[in-house]
Amino acid sequence: MKDTSIHLVTSVSSSGEYRLVVNELWCKGCRICVDLCPRHVLEMVEAPERWEGTIVKVTNMDACNGCGICEVECPDFAIGLTSTRKKKTNETAK
Ligand code: SF4
Ligand code: SF4
Repeated sequence: MKDTSIHLVTSVSSSGEYRLVVNELWCKGCRICVDLCPRHVLEMVEAPERWEGTIVKVTNMDACNGCGICEVECPDFAIGLTSTRKKKTNETAK
């Protein structure tokens, strides 16, 4: 059964437009998001306390274009994107 514990790490672009949230306890260090991110926003870093030995970190948040690939492709739902641009669009649509 999946561990339902959470340890959320939030990164926000300096413009405030994009926010990435990583649940570090769900990240299994597969690096799919790192390899697929077109803007090199993410890196794997050593995490000796984890059995996987690595974990994802957001290291270049201002390069994020909000494409959402990381969120869609993560098999463990460990990374999520929110965009103020999307939120404004939704609010306008109401
Ligand atoms: S795809 Fe998901 S599980 Fe894999 S490294 Fe990225 S955040 Fe972690
Ligand atoms: S939303 Fe796109 S650009 Fe931003 S970190 Fe994820 S894959 Fe990279």
